[in-house]
Amino acid sequence: MTMDFASLATEYQEKFDVAPQRVFFSPGRINLIGEYTDFNGGHVFPAAISMGSYAAYSSRDDRQFRVYSANVPDAGMLTFSLDDLAFNKADNWANYLKGMLFELAKQNLTIDHGFDLFVHGNLPDASGLSSSASMEMLMGEILHAAYGMKLDEVEMVKVGQQVENDYFGLNTGIMDQFAIGMGKKDQAILLDTNTMAYEYAPLDLGDNVVVIMNTKKRRELTDSKYNERRAQCEEALRRLQTKLDIKTLGDLDEDQFDQNAYLINDETLIKRARHAVFENQRTLKAFKALQDNDLTTFGHLINASHISLNYDFAVTGKELDTLVETAWQQPGVLGARMTGAGFGGCAIAIVKKANVKDFEAKVGKVYEDTIGHKAEFYVAEIADGPKELHK
Ligand code: ADP
Ligand code: MG
Repeated sequence: MTMDFASLATEYQEKFDVAPQRVFFSPGRINLIGEYTDFNGGHVFPAAISMGSYAAYSSRDDRQFRVYSANVPDAGMLTFSLDDLAFNKADNWANYLKGMLFELAKQNLTIDHGFDLFVHGNLPDASGLSSSASMEMLMGEILHAAYGMKLDEVEMVKVGQQVENDYFGLNTGIMDQFAIGMGKKDQAILLDTNTMAYEYAPLDLGDNVVVIMNTKKRRELTDSKYNERRAQCEEALRRLQTKLDIKTLGDLDEDQFDQNAYLINDETLIKRARHAVFENQRTLKAFKALQDNDLTTFGHLINASHISLNYDFAVTGKELDTLVETAWQQPGVLGARMTGAGFGGCAIAIVKKANVKDFEAKVGKVYEDTIGHKAEFYVAEIADGPKELHK
């Protein structure tokens, strides 16, 4: 189904009986490489994609909101007032809008009226393409327009992260909101999560495309495992800091890590920290390889990233490993790895255009035979960040 200004306007009108004033879009994201580095002061290398979230809205004269999502029809029409923006579980997904309003209200901005809103996205559900950050940045773009806010994109990205961290109480890093809020067509973004310095790199893969492979496995335990990995990295860092003057694991290169890993003195913690250190270095090398048009090296780095996420960081699981390891064996594949938090969700593969059809058929068959349900495949288009759509 194509989604655009007209389709959203029609859906809005069916719900609210009048035409909407404006329509907005916000992308999802993939991460090329640099996984679980964003809370370790390392680099990430994501890009925004053309699948994402759409919303149509009209301003109201009062302080009420009426909001509906076609993706969560069971929640029905949700209503709330500007006068009560506290987190409330019963408000379901509307907490993303309430959270953005709540955090922005701290900034001395004029937020004086509500609106009616219709949301519809085409990102696969909770699949690691960051539909939550897509929603936050979608709401940010709408609030920016609706209230004439003078907030730049990086500030809005940080507000989105605050919503996850402070409003929802999730311990997530900055990558997702940054990748989406700062997205640029056909460009990937190298972000230093320590300094917030960033650099765009043209994602020019020649005859190749990025294929997204969806395990269609509902993520379970992701939040608790995610928090556990964070705590393990923090503990490893603390032990290294007894001798080393470093602020984050991202301050170390491979040799420095190998020479000092004994300080950590615990096999599991060493593996977790080694992933963070080596993955950060791989990300820098991958950025350089792309700039040098060395796609072979780029592919090898991506493969090494997956192996590290499997053996050292232990966040892949049977579904992601089946997709990625089968992808590695196919003709025309430069590299493949999981993307996002893992335990399910999506993987990516860099595949020669001419091989994509066979690739999807073969990997799809092996996956279904091994796992018992079908995977889904999409060719990623690298897209701009949040924007208003017009007729
Ligand atoms: P993801 O990896 O996709 O970010 P999360 O669990 O962090 O997974 O976020 C998924 C949540 O985001 C959904 O449960 C829902 O509350 C919200 N969400 C995302 N997209 C939409 C949408 N189109 N409509 C309503 N809620 C959405
Ligand atoms: Mg999320």
